This record gives sequence, structure tokens and C-alpha cells, in this order.
Amino acid sequence: MYIIGKDERLEKVLGIVAEILKKGKISCNEYLGEKDLMQEALSFLGIREPSCKEGTETYHLDHLGFFDDISPSRLRVFSSTEELLYKNWPTPLVLLRSLSNHNLRVWAKLEFFNPFSMSVKDRIGWSMITDYLAKYNNPTVLYEATSTNTGMALTALANIKGLKVKLFLPYTIQKASDIILRIMGAEVQRVQKSLTVEFVGDVDELAKREGGIHLNQFENNSNLKVHLRYTAKELDLQVREASLKLRGIIGGVGTSGHLSALSLYFKSKYGDNVKVYGAQPAPGNVIPGIRRVETGMKWLHYVKIDKVQDVTSSEAIEQAIRIARSEGLFVGLSSGAVMATFEKLKKNGALQEGDYVLIFPDHGFKYIEQFATYLEETKRQD
Ligand code: PLP
Repeated sequence: MYIIGKDERLEKVLGIVAEILKKGKISCNEYLGEKDLMQEALSFLGIREPSCKEGTETYHLDHLGFFDDISPSRLRVFSSTEELLYKNWPTPLVLLRSLSNHNLRVWAKLEFFNPFSMSVKDRIGWSMITDYLAKYNNPTVLYEATSTNTGMALTALANIKGLKVKLFLPYTIQKASDIILRIMGAEVQRVQKSLTVEFVGDVDELAKREGGIHLNQFENNSNLKVHLRYTAKELDLQVREASLKLRGIIGGVGTSGHLSALSLYFKSKYGDNVKVYGAQPAPGNVIPGIRRVETGMKWLHYVKIDKVQDVTSSEAIEQAIRIARSEGLFVGLSSGAVMATFEKLKKNGALQEGDYVLIFPDHGFKYIEQFATYLEETKRQD
């Protein structure tokens, strides 16, 4: 189990974030009363600071630039590959017709539209590096424990910013990852442990000993922050644009960054009408990118998740193949786990009529080895 201490300050700041989202406005009275914590909450949400003179003013979030972060380049012309990342958001939200019926409409948010790792992890790679450089601005070597995607994202952004990267991967991850990461320019080492969280402490010590920096996706609040400032706001705007009757969001949990942010955002703004469900591997199963909650997660404990569903590796693969064959989308194994979660909830009658959003974290190309083994095994059984 990965031990992460309770952070009382973070808990307070996230409480303020929830209040701000719930009220949709900021009163100067409250702002001036807890300025330090308030400022941190505003930075989590990407909101300008209110100008408070009398102390009696109230500002609606729209007047403090709440949605200004989401400003896509409509003609898709970008002045750098970094812009190609954050000015190309929102990632698409698409109706999955093959899974939808009159009562339940199922939408997928396609995180493989991110350019570097073709995954949700581009967001945190960008946010952790940007926040680090804003504070220290010194060239360094980044150390990170990763199951591939964060490694790809960090390496791409480090290349853009002139930094070097050393990555540590568990032995359970597909072999293709070493090749991809080395092509991108990272130094890669395998560790004889099955989960990344099992050696985060070792990576931390090594980085300190060798004078590098461990950004640490598992504990770095820039992870949660980027999903609040961007992923959640994007989805909010997309839900409004398509006039969805949003009843639930389903995602996988790895660091818990994206699902925790989505839960904090949507439950604070829309109450318990929006259920949030997580997918985790069933005991003894490996699904790259996600892991069991009891292995230790930071942000999940500050938010409400309605249910965490166990999914086996075969269920995840079967659902990934199903979506490729029904919708033409070649998604990764954790997306398959998210679909399997949806199917189980539906079967158990847990889903009310309305719209459901499935977060598909990445593309299927990295998992060719797992797909090949699965196809071989099913051929033998036929
Ligand atoms: N799915 C894949 C393929 C991932 O790489 C990750 C994160 O590593 C996740 C899901 C989980 O995302 P998070 O770390 O935001 O919980």
C-alpha cells in the first residue's frame, strides 16, 4: 500500500473550491477573510482574483474569466507543438450510438486526441512541468515512475523545454513501451515490481541522490489542478452545448487525478444528480494505467465516488474489442474497463434515464501485445 498522508490544508482548499463551484460566485467578504486559502482555491480553478475594495462586492465566476482557459483554436493552426496540446482542447465528446438506447445515451470523451502520449496524461505532463518551471526555471533531469503514458507526455514536453527524462516502468507493462519512450529520447529502466506505486519512494530517493527532480504524478497537485481547470470545465461546456441530461460520469483510477477532479467539479456544481463511478482492476488482474483504490490514492479521499467497480483484464479487453468493432474506435484497456463498468452498472439496474459520459483515457496501439495474446488464446479455445 502506498501511504499518502492526509493534507489538511489541501482538504480546506478543496472545500473552498467546492463552495465556489456550488455558489457560482465569490463574495469579497469571504475572499478577504481567508485570502491565502482563497487564492490557492482560485488557482485550482483558473479564476482571476476579484478586486475587492469595499469588502461587500460579489463577483459571478463568468466575470472572473472562469471559462477563459478553454479557448480552442477553431481553425487548428498552432504556433508550437505545446500549443497543439492546450489550444486544441476540448478533446472530443462523441455519442456512442451502438451503446445508447431511448433511455440511456452514452458519450465518450476521447483523451487519445491529445498529441504526445495519445492519452489523458498529456494534461498532467504539461501541468506538472509548466508549474515546476514557473517556480524554478532551471534545466534539470526529471525522474518519474510511469506505466507509459505519463512517461511519454513528460518526455515530449521535456524535449520541447530542453529538459532530460529518466523513467522507471514496472515489469508488467508491455515491451513496446521501452521502444516508444527511447525513440522519444527518455532513459528507461524496468523495475521488478508489478505496480508503479510500489517504487515511487525509490524513484524519489534516487532523484534526490542524483540531483534530479521527481515531479511525482501520484502526489503533485498540478495533476488534480489541470483536470479541474481544463478537463472538467471542457466537459461542462460540452454537456451544455449538447444539452445533455447528465446523470453520470465513468472513469478509471490510476493516480485518481482526473476522476477526483470531475467528481469535485460536477458534484459541487450540480449536486448528487451526477453520479461518479470508477473502474479498478479486479484482485489479481493487471489493466495498465489503473489500479485498485486500496493501493493508495491521494485525491480520491477528498471527493465522493458513488461506486468503484471491479473489472477483470479479459472483460476490459473484450469491451475494447467490442467498441473497435461497433464504433471503429481503437481504444486502450482502461477504456475497455470503463465500458465494462458501464455495462455492469446498467445490468444491475443502477443507471437512471439520461446521459452518461465515459472517459476513454487512451488509444489501443500501445497494447498490441495484450491484444495479440488475447486473440491467440480465444482462437485456441474455438
Ligand atoms: N488509463 C490510462 C491508460 C492511464 O495511463 C491512466 C493513468 O496513468 C489512467 C487510466 C488513470 O488516470 P488517473 O491517473 O488520472 O487516475
